[in-house]
Amino acid sequence: MRKAILAGLFALFISVASLAFAGTRFEAAAWQEACEKSRYSCEGLSRPVVEYDETGLEGGLWGYYMLGTRVVFLSTGLKPGQEYAVLVHEMVHYLQYSDYKRHPNVVLDRCTAEREAFEVSDQVLKRLGLPELARNGDLDNYGC
Ligand SMILES: [Zn+2]
Repeated sequence: MRKAILAGLFALFISVASLAFAGTRFEAAAWQEACEKSRYSCEGLSRPVVEYDETGLEGGLWGYYMLGTRVVFLSTGLKPGQEYAVLVHEMVHYLQYSDYKRHPNVVLDRCTAEREAFEVSDQVLKRLGLPELARNGDLDNYGC
């Protein structure tokens, strides 16, 4: 009996650990792609922390970057390829902010920032053979 419980606990531990590992690999791949496909250098930067938002999608939010932080939010419930592209997109926003901190005299307007991030996520989706993300009114909302 005790052996079975221990084995069960061990299996649980293994599956939680492999999930965490899969998450890390997914985030690392997205980070690498944001670094390679955007015009920003990731040198000296560490990967942003990814927070998974379980209610974001209900509010129509796919992902967002909290300006001034190292945290990128990703809504759960998106299709796998889309989820990945959205994460890359938000990581580009993090890179834009990091670049602004290095060069405060170069201010990126919101429309340019969004276009840049979409260009990178569209490249990712194209590679994956998936359709581009709907702009979701983002560009319209900012008057672009
Ligand atoms: Zn964006």
